[in-house]
Amino acid sequence: MARILIGYDVEIRGPWKKAFSRNPVSTALFLEAAKKLHEELSLPCTFFICGATLEENLPIFRALVGHPLIELAQHTYSHILLKTIVIEKEGTTDLHLGASLEQIEEEVNRTQEIFRQELGMECRGLTGPWGYYRGLKDRPDILEILAEAGIKFLRTDARNEKDYQPVPFENQPYFYALQGFPDLLEFPVQGWQDTYLRENCGWDNIVGFIREIKKGVDYIARGDLIWDYCQHDWTSIVNDPQMSIIRELAVYAQERGVKFDQYSSVYEEFISKRDGDTSERLNA
Ligand SMILES: [Zn+2]
Repeated sequence: MARILIGYDVEIRGPWKKAFSRNPVSTALFLEAAKKLHEELSLPCTFFICGATLEENLPIFRALVGHPLIELAQHTYSHILLKTIVIEKEGTTDLHLGASLEQIEEEVNRTQEIFRQELGMECRGLTGPWGYYRGLKDRPDILEILAEAGIKFLRTDARNEKDYQPVPFENQPYFYALQGFPDLLEFPVQGWQDTYLRENCGWDNIVGFIREIKKGVDYIARGDLIWDYCQHDWTSIVNDPQMSIIRELAVYAQERGVKFDQYSSVYEEFISKRDGDTSERLNA
């Protein structure tokens, strides 16, 4: 059965002003719109939150702990890159340096601690800021830091060989067993992240954007695939404050028999399938 996992990167720090935005944008406004929509549609999703953003909006996030439709995970403390990326895009090359191992360890553990102290919960998932080609297949040193921090599922494989997008839908979830971390599951972010696709379509062109993501739905429905779909707090409400993109995505996908799910439950399912039992390691 084809499925979509909606993962939002929640990362705004302080007030943001984008030249192409016709409406105010903040994490608080996103959280209000997203909660309303996901509850109305009974649509599950996951928020991957930067520690700094979490601290700025604590009361709102506290109220979401244990929410049946909204799962909480992390996106490092201040949005550091786990790996260096060299983006080759339309004849240009753009370099963004990855953080040191010390910095990664500090930021990931600091955010884990905020989840414990402020939300009273263990954080099990992480999205790597920007995303990387091949995820962390070539970085067992980083995987070790994440595994020791208690992370079980990742979204880091989010770029193609040009450190750009789209990423093929055939890039389906996989364990980092070869690297020595058989319980760490990667969910590649396929297709386009909304940041690039919104820009490519034109920030005002909501209809054109929706037309493009419907092609993705058709593709995964035909191939019976899992789509790890990525939006951001800010992009989700830029020129679309009621989040009509997600509404249309949900309706269109459900009409085609595509289900929506969350990372932790799919993680459990993959572990069970692998082990041939129903162990619930995520909560162990
Ligand atoms: Zn991000």
